[in-house]
Amino acid sequence: MTDDPVDDLKPSFRSDVTVELVKHSAADSDVLWAARVSTAGEQSLDELKKDPERSKGLINYLMRDRHGSPFEHNSMTFFISAPIFVFREFMRHRVGWSYNEESGRYRELQPVFYVPAESRKLVQEGRPGKYRFVEGTRAQQELVGRAMEDAYVHAYEAYQEMLAAGVAREVARSVLPVGLFSSMYATCNARSLMHFLGLRTQHELAQVPSFPQREIEMVGERMEALWAELMPLTHAAFNTNGRIAP
Ligand SMILES: Cc1cc2nc3c(=O)[nH]c(=O)nc-3n(C[C@H](O)[C@H](O)[C@H](O)COP(=O)(O)OP(=O)(O)OC[C@H]3O[C@@H](n4cnc5c(N)ncnc54)[C@H](O)[C@@H]3O)c2cc1C
Repeated sequence: MTDDPVDDLKPSFRSDVTVELVKHSAADSDVLWAARVSTAGEQSLDELKKDPERSKGLINYLMRDRHGSPFEHNSMTFFISAPIFVFREFMRHRVGWSYNEESGRYRELQPVFYVPAESRKLVQEGRPGKYRFVEGTRAQQELVGRAMEDAYVHAYEAYQEMLAAGVAREVARSVLPVGLFSSMYATCNARSLMHFLGLRTQHELAQVPSFPQREIEMVGERMEALWAELMPLTHAAFNTNGRIAP
């Protein structure tokens, strides 16, 4: 975006997503004190720093045997900017998630649109639910870039034309495509994030493979990297136990 209002109305094209951790209260120790209340009662907080190896073992045991609730006593809030089609998939995750998204009724939507990077595989093979993606040809890549940009520009012009004629934002937005970028805050805990990652990322350690759309996976990979820094033992146990949320 620029400071010039005219430039702000010119469509711009992005092939990446934004994921920022804006707020958090999340550490491996949150899992430990919650779990140890079972046996240590109100002393469970004092037990935290006693024996790191035992702590690692306890987290691994909870993950392996799917004792999930100790992984809920933490919170992470992410700011995410991604195409609307990613948010449609994202908001299917109902449990342990809170969302707030920018409004197309209360503000004029900015012309930022998704165009896949060259590295994004374009051609699907195999059967539904188990697609494999392969590189597109040069011609397919050029077509995708050109067709998307033309359609986006055309759609945004129609949106602007209606706004200029006094039509309400909530009506005019109907012409905007799902490749338009939106932004939201999403808050979760480690348990709900693990469930999300199990479904929305592909990983060699996954015991139950999933086949997510690449663009939501891009968001998931960034969230995972930020979470792994906050809760390294929990993250390692998630991987060791087949990336199945407890
Ligand atoms: C690769 C892939 C392809 C998909 N394709 C489609 C598609 O074609 N069409 C489509 O509509 N969706 C599709 N989805 C979305 C999918 O069906 C889920 O809605 C989404 O993955 C969220 O999963 P969830 O319900 O487990 O998560 P959450 O809503 O976060 O729920 C977490 C867990 O809570 C429990 N739970 C939540 N709500 C209920 C309930 N009402 N009753 C009982 N238990 C509940 C379940 O154990 C659930 O796993 C797809 C998802 C993936 C990953």
